[in-house]
Amino acid sequence: MSWEDNVRRVIPYVPGEQPKDKVIKLNTNENPYPPSVKVRNILREYDIDELRLYPDVNGGELREGLAKLHGLRPEQVFVGVGSDDVLAMAFMTFFNSKKPILFPDITYSFYDVWADLFKIPYKMVPLNDEFRIVKEDYYEENGGVVIPNPNAPTGVEKSASDLEDIIKANKDSVVIIDEAYVDFGATSLVTLVKKYDNLLVVQTFSKSRAMAGVRIGMAFGSDKLIKYLNDVKFSFNSYTMNRLAVAVGKAMLDDTDYFKNIVGKVVATRERTKVELSRLGFSFPDSKANFIFATHRTVPAEDIFLAAREAGIYVRYFKKPRIDNYLRITIGTDDEMEALIRFLKSYLAEIGELN
Ligand SMILES: *Cc1c(COP(=O)(O)O)cnc(C)c1O
Repeated sequence: MSWEDNVRRVIPYVPGEQPKDKVIKLNTNENPYPPSVKVRNILREYDIDELRLYPDVNGGELREGLAKLHGLRPEQVFVGVGSDDVLAMAFMTFFNSKKPILFPDITYSFYDVWADLFKIPYKMVPLNDEFRIVKEDYYEENGGVVIPNPNAPTGVEKSASDLEDIIKANKDSVVIIDEAYVDFGATSLVTLVKKYDNLLVVQTFSKSRAMAGVRIGMAFGSDKLIKYLNDVKFSFNSYTMNRLAVAVGKAMLDDTDYFKNIVGKVVATRERTKVELSRLGFSFPDSKANFIFATHRTVPAEDIFLAAREAGIYVRYFKKPRIDNYLRITIGTDDEMEALIRFLKSYLAEIGELN
């Protein structure tokens, strides 16, 4: 017997690489544009004396701003250290049944990691051959449901009405909709939290709001859901949101024009990139996110992944069943995407696969 027999052993989530060298980074779905200049101004003028004091336990003006944005009350909003923090808290709080929770087999690869960590039984529900969620598959008994919309890493959106059917069919469990990418063209379910007390909608500042480095995530739900979430959070770590994060988050939230501008640019670049990739022999499910999940007609994804990496262009490759011939390509600036297309053309030409 050794102390090691009692260690809680886990296989951790593996994030995309953060290379130190200057590369074209299309592997972790960050926004290619900087946050609003209003964020810079906040940092420049920040009164550091405030840093002596503990922050507001609820995220202060950031939570209030988020509530206002969506026509909710602050009691229906929860903020955390990135949506990973929010989702982990939600798993811990709401998934406490002996019945398995349900999520797609191809999805955000943190869900099974949290389920294992918190010893939550789970069942991965296969997407159909077109990488689509089949709503009837979520009508069986379960201990909870978690679905990203759009899904990751496929980028496929599930219609709001289908998701609402899933929520209605699961009145006895909590349904989490992870909207990490929703701002890039999908329909948010956030207004439905007033209608269904078992719905938790989770969003993040990391992608559409260009602040992955600050770590801000949020959840919207009924007063009751948010209260239960806070009870668990306050039993774990009360002060998750630091004062600087709250201040810069609020500044970014307030600059809606800039937010719309950068999201619009990413979406326009995505649509152009779809056309270019098709011309080169790639196909992909229609993405409503800030990435494209692409497979080539003849060339294995892993070969392209390695060659691109060699050329200083990082995309994401998952060596997993069903998706090991796909690349998840984050939408960067127009210049970055042109560099990717140029690389792909010359690589495919070199190996005789450009036609
Ligand atoms: C990026 C991502 C998150 C987490 O992002 P945070 O940076 O922790 O806010 C959550 N869910 C999905 C599906 C994501 O792709």
